[in-house]
Parts: sequence; C-alpha cells; structure tokens
Amino acid sequence: MRWQGVIHKYRHFLPFTEDMRVISLNEGDTPLIPANRLAEILAPNSGLKLFLKYEGLNPTGSFKDRGMTAAITQAAHEGSKTVICASTGNTAASAAAYAARAGLRCLVLVPEGKIALGKLAASLAYGAEVISIEGSFDDALDMVREIVERQPIALVNSINPWRLEGQKTGAFEIVDQLEGNAPDWHCLPVGNAGNITAYWMGYKQYGKGLPQILGGQAAGSAPIVLGKAVEKPETIATAIRIGNPARWRQALEALDESGGIITAVSDEKILESWRLLARIEGVFVEPASATGLAALKQQIEQGEIDPRGKTAVCILTGHGLKDPGTAVNQASPPINLPAEIGALEAYLES
Ligand SMILES: *Cc1c(COP(=O)(O)O)cnc(C)c1O
Repeated sequence: MRWQGVIHKYRHFLPFTEDMRVISLNEGDTPLIPANRLAEILAPNSGLKLFLKYEGLNPTGSFKDRGMTAAITQAAHEGSKTVICASTGNTAASAAAYAARAGLRCLVLVPEGKIALGKLAASLAYGAEVISIEGSFDDALDMVREIVERQPIALVNSINPWRLEGQKTGAFEIVDQLEGNAPDWHCLPVGNAGNITAYWMGYKQYGKGLPQILGGQAAGSAPIVLGKAVEKPETIATAIRIGNPARWRQALEALDESGGIITAVSDEKILESWRLLARIEGVFVEPASATGLAALKQQIEQGEIDPRGKTAVCILTGHGLKDPGTAVNQASPPINLPAEIGALEAYLES
C-alpha cells in the first residue's frame, strides 16, 4: 500500500528525515469544492470563482490534523511520553487521536463550558485526560506554557513550530488543486492565528504565486482588528473565541506582505454564511468555519474587494458535526406527524 498523509506527500518541503517514524491518519487531501451558486449570491454576474476547501473531512474533523501529524511525529521522535495542549476543542480532539496512535499520554485543557459537544466527545473517546479550566482559552494556554517549563511534557499547541510545518501543506494542496496557481484571495477564520501564519509560509515556500489573505475574526473576539487583547472574548464561533492570539505578530506579517486584511464579522453574519454553506452548497461546517466566507461576503458588500474575474478560496476549518448543539438551536424543530399516508399528503399540500 502506498503511504498517504501530508508528511509523506510533501516530505520534500518538510524538515523530516526519511528514517523517522511518521504518526499519520492519512490526513489532508481534502476536496476543493467549486461553489458556483454561492458565488452568484455573493457577487452576481461578476465571474467570481469561489472554492471551498473542506477541512472538516480530515480524520478528526478539522484542519488541526495537518499540524498534529507533524507535532506528534516530532514529539515521539524526541522520546516524549506525554503531550499537552490548551484548546477550544479541535486541537484537543486532534492531539488525543494522534497521541493515541503514537502510544503517548495526552492531557488537554479546555475552557469550562465553552467546548462544543462533538469535540469533547471525541477527545474523551480517544482517551485523553480532559481538564476543564475555570477560565478562558487564553488562561489555559498560559498554564500549558508554564507546565512544559517545569515538566518533561511536549506542548502541541500552534506555538509549536512543527504544527505550522504540517499546516502549511494546506497551501500546497490548494495550489495543486488549482492546477499550479495560487488563488487571488485566501479567506479563513483567525483565532490563535496559527493557520493564517502556516498558510502564508506554505504559499511562499511553494513558489507558485501568492494570494491576498483575508482573515475573519468574530466581532466579540477580534483582538487583531482592535489592536488590543480582548479580556472576555465572546462569540458563538467557539473555535475562534480567543482574546490574545499566540501568533499575532506573524498574522500581521502575512497581512502586510500579502496586501491582505483581517476584518471583524458579527455572529449574525457568521451564522448567515454558515447557513448559506449548508443550504446553497450542501456543505455543513461548524460556525467558526464560516467566518472566512462571512469576511469575503462583507468585504464585497462594502466595496472593499472587486470580485470581477477573481478566484477566492475559503478555508472551511471544521466539520458541522463538531457542534451539533448550535445546528439544532438554529433550526426549527422537526415536524411531527402520525404514521399515516393521509397525514403526509395533507402536510405536503399545506
Ligand atoms: C483552530 C480553529 C480555527 C482557528 O485557527 P487558528 O490557527 O487558531 O487561527 C478556526 N476554525 C476551527 C474550526 C478551528 O478548529
């Protein structure tokens, strides 16, 4: 069998040697889905070519797997026995899965009550020790940063440079899927700003053109847009509920170098794009994952971006089943009928 996964596929672009034992779940190789109907809604008759990079189809349901295969491969190679991370949920699930596969102990610190059900369920199922912190993601990240100074534990948050090495493969794949060209606009949600940093690294290294980066932050959790840390970040998009991004400086560099921008979008606009993705294109994502699209839509509406003839890629960072609670809360409840054909016919005609 041919080996798959992002390390094997892009080894020449990654700092791993041939003899290393690779911890992989065949992550990556996610579809780039053309979204023609959605493009017509965003910018009618403009020739906008819109693509959705569906990262929810990675093994644990988010893009975090691209970075985690690299971070856990390196941790195992260095002889670590235990890994730790702070997480809004997806890093936890990913670390838990790859640690299980490597035979490592895994501790995950999550902000109390703010982790979506699918992420918690997966982390527990993979056998991680899930520790709920009476505080925010930022508090949890401070704690893991300190514990790895005191204990022989490997940190697998995206401050770990190996995470970015793995995640940058997303940019390689997009260029390959667009037949050797970078898009004009690369749109994505920004939380801790690891992914925006990794994508920019990837496009630069691949050397096949550079997009402009368009990041979206939730309005209640938009430190980079505001230019200052947010003490109590709030948003329905829990994956990007982060008040003090670890990769803040690198995110600003990516914006500056690409001529891009990070913009704030309201929860309402995030949910609007989340709904459009599912109902117009049949692509179900968790709310945070719609933030890149929401940012693109808002920039076009405000006349900040001219969409004519442009190619835009939106990174859909996580699967919709990660957050079933929000999906159910946002919909009307199912219709109840007796088990009679007459009742179904009457309903159809009502
Ligand atoms: C982690 C995550 C983000 C944010 O990525 P950063 O690298 O923290 O900016 C966005 N969406 C989802 C679904 C995530 O899991």
